Amino acid sequence: MSKSKKKVSIEVGHGGPDPGAVRGDIYEKNINLVVGSELKRQLERHDVDVLINRTTDVGFKVAEFRAKAVEFNPDAGISVHTNAFNTTVKGFEVFRNTNAFKSPSTLLCAAIEREVKALGQTSRGIKDSPFMMSALSCPTAYCELGFLDNSADYQQFDTPEKQRAFATAYAKGILDYFGVDWINEGQPAPVANETPPPESRVLYRVVTGSFSKKANADAQVRQLKAKGFDSFIVEHKM
Ligand SMILES: [Zn+2]
Repeated sequence: MSKSKKKVSIEVGHGGPDPGAVRGDIYEKNINLVVGSELKRQLERHDVDVLINRTTDVGFKVAEFRAKAVEFNPDAGISVHTNAFNTTVKGFEVFRNTNAFKSPSTLLCAAIEREVKALGQTSRGIKDSPFMMSALSCPTAYCELGFLDNSADYQQFDTPEKQRAFATAYAKGILDYFGVDWINEGQPAPVANETPPPESRVLYRVVTGSFSKKANADAQVRQLKAKGFDSFIVEHKM
């Protein structure tokens, strides 16, 4: 029942004087902040250790945070962004690392993409990112949840509730990649190195066969005893 605590670094794109993509009064930095903060909450709820660059609307230096992230030595690195292009393009897209962690990055990105698609968002697929988070020695996923300059796409994330749903999808994907079971809100978080209390211990009974004739059951017991296994017969009324 022991498990080691997983670590995730979350880089929330832009902030402060840098709005990222903009359409009217819609700023990428604000969407990223909602998603990143909720992602942190969801992961911490599952006993994951999180390093995050910002939880308020402040600017940050990408190189500085990535140096911190390298020191943190996470099991996964996530970057949270929202796209814009020429108003005609739509959908989620995710960039994997292309360093030595390319193949686990692909698995991580695929796990996240699967959950995002389950939300009803289309995906433009998993793409290569030769530069974005290559300093990290772990699988990484640089997530662009959709295109805010595309009206139909923006409807997928035009409220904080919808933005938090993306964060939940990211968290589910990351935890799935780690092999950590999803816990619904309100259930207790798992505890590392947990020993079950004595009253909840379970006995596992080994059954080697059921027989309609008593003689056949006796023969099975004799065979097991001959091989050194202790065994006995329990009557079961059908
Ligand atoms: Zn961005």
